[in-house]
Amino acid sequence: MTAANIIDGKAFAEGLRTRIATVAADFEAKAGRKAGLAVVLVGEDPASQVYVRNKGKQTVAAGMESFEHKLPADTSEADLLAVVEQLNADPAVDGILVQLPLPAHMNEQKVIATINPDKDVDGFHVVNVGRLATGLPGFVPCTPLGCVMLLKDRLGSLSGLDAVVIGRSNIVGKPMAQLLIAESCTVTVAHSRTKDLAEVVRRADIVVAAVGRPEMVKGDWLKPGATVIDVGINRVPAAEEGKTRLVGDVDFASAAAVAGAITPVPGGVGPMTIAVLLRNTVVAAHRNVGLSLDESAL
Ligand code: NAP
Repeated sequence: MTAANIIDGKAFAEGLRTRIATVAADFEAKAGRKAGLAVVLVGEDPASQVYVRNKGKQTVAAGMESFEHKLPADTSEADLLAVVEQLNADPAVDGILVQLPLPAHMNEQKVIATINPDKDVDGFHVVNVGRLATGLPGFVPCTPLGCVMLLKDRLGSLSGLDAVVIGRSNIVGKPMAQLLIAESCTVTVAHSRTKDLAEVVRRADIVVAAVGRPEMVKGDWLKPGATVIDVGINRVPAAEEGKTRLVGDVDFASAAAVAGAITPVPGGVGPMTIAVLLRNTVVAAHRNVGLSLDESAL
């Protein structure tokens, strides 16, 4: 496999963030304020703290306002809902993200349902799920939207291609399938009950793996020349005692020998997620104040 066949998500995300910064500056000049993203974190989960810190840094670097609300783990659901309501009413806040997972005593669906769908830049509110399914403008979950951007950048039109999505979560698999249908792919969604997964995957021009099982998809499952998008982020023991390393859901070495193009882990889909969150926020800002924007250019 040559380097040309590696889909460099890090570089693509960098380019996207540069375009977003230009649009954010234009928004500020026209609206007289910066586009704003509010992130709510409940509790002290170390991984969530890292995500929230990175989101905040990248929001500010793109020329947008970052509002962070850190609440203790024993916050009541009612108090969290009150914070979300306050952000819904705040005109300086264009996008609201509640970092998941929430502590066990909170109902995630209820919290997501309280976010104003027009500020739901994560695209998890049922109104946005319905908008995606029916082809109406809304907000699309960041990770699958990032995957489609990488696919279109690599392949141009996806029309008529056979796509297999492995995984049917609300966050990745299902919205990914909806987006590929919208791009006129013929879509198969595989999951833990799928019979003969290797045979299903072998039909695909596009394979999206969002499973959460380290290096499950092997090179000999793939159609030669297929484009492989590896969403998985799995931490496994490294060769060196006591160390760990990140791997995807695809066995990169064997898959790269057969695929036409493949995303690495790390450096593939991962960097796209926050970049698309910023994209959704600057889009929300324009919609919220009624300013026009060519969203397809972002
Ligand atoms: P999830 O909610 O756990 O869903 C996993 C899906 O994989 C389920 O639909 C499950 O099927 C299916 N599955 C499990 N074992 C399988 C098997 N042996 N064969 C076929 N399908 C199988 O996970 P998720 O939230 O979608 O995340 C998937 C992966 O993406 C994880 O590694 C996660 O860390 C990563 N991720 C990365 C990003 C990013 O920014 N790059 C963002 C989100 C997630 P059932 O429905 O039948 O149980």
